[in-house]
Amino acid sequence: MSDFDVIIVGGGIAGASLGAEIADKRRTLIIEAEDQCGYHSTGRSAAFYLESYGGPEVAKLTSASGRFLAAPTADFSAHGFLRRRGDLHISRDELPELPPGVESRAVERPELEQLIPGVRPEWRRALLEPGCADIDVAALHAAFLRACRSAGGTVRTGSRLDSARRKDGRWTVQIEDGSTLVAAVIVNAAGAWADLVATACSVAPLGIAPKRRTMVQLRVGRSGLRNLPLVDDAKGTFYFKGEGDRTVWLSPHDEIATDPCDAAPEEIDIATAIDRFESVVDWSIERVERSWAGLRSFARDRLPVYGFDAHAPGFFWCAGQGGFGIQTSPAAAKLAAALLLDQAPDAMVELIDPALFSPRRFSS
Ligand SMILES: Cc1cc2nc3c(=O)[nH]c(=O)nc-3n(C[C@H](O)[C@H](O)[C@H](O)COP(=O)(O)OP(=O)(O)OC[C@H]3O[C@@H](n4cnc5c(N)ncnc54)[C@H](O)[C@@H]3O)c2cc1C
Repeated sequence: MSDFDVIIVGGGIAGASLGAEIADKRRTLIIEAEDQCGYHSTGRSAAFYLESYGGPEVAKLTSASGRFLAAPTADFSAHGFLRRRGDLHISRDELPELPPGVESRAVERPELEQLIPGVRPEWRRALLEPGCADIDVAALHAAFLRACRSAGGTVRTGSRLDSARRKDGRWTVQIEDGSTLVAAVIVNAAGAWADLVATACSVAPLGIAPKRRTMVQLRVGRSGLRNLPLVDDAKGTFYFKGEGDRTVWLSPHDEIATDPCDAAPEEIDIATAIDRFESVVDWSIERVERSWAGLRSFARDRLPVYGFDAHAPGFFWCAGQGGFGIQTSPAAAKLAAALLLDQAPDAMVELIDPALFSPRRFSS
């Protein structure tokens, strides 16, 4: 039987980033059910960094992560992970309000026409958020896994937690392949499966709900789109960004409740995306080049959950990263690591109150 201090369940961005933070201080194992660590939500994102996204509390984690994502330490990566493109929150009437501290400026119709050639007349103005950037998600995720391993951690793919029981301060974990592992702490970083993993460990679920989101790659009859800003509706009904010279990534901003699964796009959501896109620009649509879907998982208050369970000793939550799990990952991992190790927080997160994200907020 292999013995660890911490077993992290889930090798997506949440598990990988926390593993990178703690592996030099605790004997750490990441177990991932799939053959690849980024197979689910982490490998399916829209890959943007947008400080205003998710509201003021999430913005604290995103802003705290920004500098590291732009210029990580040399031992972590020789390159930054961000490429600036800016975001236009477009509106037919009023401009949206952004969380405090997020840089933005108003754009009126003449400038909007230059920034989005062919934008339809009813879109009268926009708020430009210049700090919005693309994230190189694959490189970031790989760097977290590499950092975890080089600090002494182990990553085991094809290893699904089946059940776990706690006795005498230790968890005995049954893996689906029949093997058994032992650890003092289980970290639940299982994304859409977080509640199922809790139940499999006889821990009460918190109500982490997976919601499907659809992405479509469209080829259109206009070129020069690669650096088009991210464009989103201030009312939250679509977003798109330039991908290649004549292609965009588009989402209908859908949020369909589902069981945890290998999510796939539905025709109706692709059609809705295209319909909404056509209401924004007059560009002809040549074809759907590809489409995919992934699960964004939310706690009831749509804030992430970091911390030890209120009732189950040795069970640590790292879940509910919604649509912001990539852009918040550096700060979230530092905050979670401080809680897990019972240490003072890193300077990156010292001004963030961890109680905001504690699982104890759901205890009556
Ligand atoms: C369409 C879409 C667009 C998005 N766009 C953005 C964006 O632009 N920016 C941003 O920051 N975020 C974005 N997100 C959100 C982001 O992708 C997620 O918040 C993040 O990937 C969640 O990471 P995770 O590690 O919690 O989940 P996952 O990546 O899903 O990892 C959880 C892992 O746990 C594993 N697992 C489950 N059960 C078990 C078990 N019993 N045993 C072992 N392993 C198990 C799963 O196989 C899975 O690999 C988007 C998401 C979607 C779907």
